[in-house]
Amino acid sequence: MMTIPDRLRAVQARVAAAAEAVGRDPATVSVLAVSKTWPAEAVREAAAGGQRMFGENYVQEGVDKVEALRELRLEWHFIGPLQSNKTRPVANAFDWVHSIDRLKIAERLSAQRDVCLPPMNACIQVNVSGEQSKSGVAPEQVAALAQAVAILPGLRLRGLMCIPEPTDDLALLRSRFALLRELQAGLVEAGLALDTLSMGMSHDIEPAVAEGATIVRVGTAIFGQRSPAAQAEN
Ligand SMILES: *Cc1c(COP(=O)(O)O)cnc(C)c1O
Repeated sequence: MMTIPDRLRAVQARVAAAAEAVGRDPATVSVLAVSKTWPAEAVREAAAGGQRMFGENYVQEGVDKVEALRELRLEWHFIGPLQSNKTRPVANAFDWVHSIDRLKIAERLSAQRDVCLPPMNACIQVNVSGEQSKSGVAPEQVAALAQAVAILPGLRLRGLMCIPEPTDDLALLRSRFALLRELQAGLVEAGLALDTLSMGMSHDIEPAVAEGATIVRVGTAIFGQRSPAAQAEN
């Protein structure tokens, strides 16, 4: 049976192969291990295999794991939908947030971030699939939101994130990821210092890396299939 460290190595190999196929240095792509629904023990196993970056979707579950594993000094990324009444624990437990989709959320995270902590790294989530997906800001609105987020003192805007609609159409996926890359390039052109494209999950690591992903968010391929019951509880 494959252990979590075995599966992590397999994911790293997929990332490296996808990067090399398009002439990218594999070291420019980081794997974020998405540990949602899995117990702290699974995170410990991954950490023992060398993994440092972990992603969580649900506020309470994520904060509990951050606290339970504090002595491991891991890097925690909040990647789930965020309601404005739940920003405070995220602002203080996590190092990154990938799912900023409106200014109000960003302003609250910035204001609530402990002044003793470095600014929280932030990505704006973009709805690259139009009507097929609900989360994220529309592509036409990214520039205005990015400029507003970039000046908040408690946040450090790092880039963009997307979750395309689920599909096996590789060409369609690549076009969604390409759109995120082009939007980011436009923001860099406009003067923002961005270095992060958070895109690609277990089933679409390869097209995301081909289009420039710098963080791939991988759950199932590292930890296994999540049980529907565990997900429904959150
Ligand atoms: C669950 C989740 C992932 C990981 O998905 P897998 O298909 O399990 O790799 C990545 N990003 C977000 C935002 C998620 O919610």
